[in-house]
Amino acid sequence: MDLINEQIQHYAERHTSTETDLLKKIDRDTHAKVLMPRMLSGHLQGKVLSMLSHMIRPKCILEIGTYTGYSALCLAEGLQEGGKLITLDINEELEDRVRTYFAASAFGEKIDYRIGNAATIIPGLTETFDLVFIDADKERYSLYFDQVIDKVRIGGFIMADNVLWSGKVLNAKPDKDTRAIVEFNKKIQEDPRVENVLLPIRDGIMLMRKVSL
Ligand code: SAH
Ligand code: CA
Repeated sequence: MDLINEQIQHYAERHTSTETDLLKKIDRDTHAKVLMPRMLSGHLQGKVLSMLSHMIRPKCILEIGTYTGYSALCLAEGLQEGGKLITLDINEELEDRVRTYFAASAFGEKIDYRIGNAATIIPGLTETFDLVFIDADKERYSLYFDQVIDKVRIGGFIMADNVLWSGKVLNAKPDKDTRAIVEFNKKIQEDPRVENVLLPIRDGIMLMRKVSL
């Protein structure tokens, strides 16, 4: 289920600055050649991520769930001079494609792309993050939050994508992924360390600001 009326979605896209040619190409290639192209952030959400990143001006970003690199390139647009973005994905089949895209972008040098299970990589990261984007396997959202929260500076931001899960969060009999998302949203709502707003953009983005240790 698309949560936003299709005509409104198109109207919003027509009044949103256009994507770069590279992002257009990634979108096209992903739809033509990659499984589950719906996972790609796309024009409107990508521009939201870019805009938020420009507002935050992060020095260090962590992305969990690279897929074909679309959201990573959007988030990287707001990096400070000398900043970097670490992005993690378990799917090695996409690696060559994604490395080509990053190399063709203006941010190739700033992006540290690592293949592996995020849940095993994150505990070894020593960076302090200004911005974290959680967008990998939904059952682990709560775990990822627990793993990153102490690595985010006070005043830093965490965003989690797909928190409305096509509206399934309202289902009386939720499936496994839906249950995980519902529990995650509840956990965030109750956690005094973060101030949060659930933005009903595309599939729902939980935006969190760390306010205390
Ligand atoms: N952020 C991308 C979309 C990510 S799709 C965008 O907006 O364009 C979700 C990705 O999470 C998939 O590529 C999948 O391979 C990855 N993923 C799933 N489980 C993972 C895990 N345990 N560790 C790292 N990545 C994982
Ligand atoms: Ca997503």
